[in-house]
Amino acid sequence: MECWHCERPAHATCRFCGRAVCKAHVQEMPYIIHSYRTANGDYKAIVVAGAVYCGVCKPQQDPVTLQNME
Ligand SMILES: [Zn+2]
Ligand SMILES: [Zn+2]
Repeated sequence: MECWHCERPAHATCRFCGRAVCKAHVQEMPYIIHSYRTANGDYKAIVVAGAVYCGVCKPQQDPVTLQNME
């Protein structure tokens, strides 16, 4: 696979969208594995810092509510 940005061989793929990126163009972003609500109502998230990010896609900061999932 080749880098999305420069078409040289890629070293990683974006954790969020799957685009391939080389070492020169890779970026990092925290990746939320899991989020949950504590007993006293706070929202907490288990996050991986420095996950591979392509710099192109736009991970949404707020969770999206899914309809008709029940
Ligand atoms: Zn590149
Ligand atoms: Zn991406």
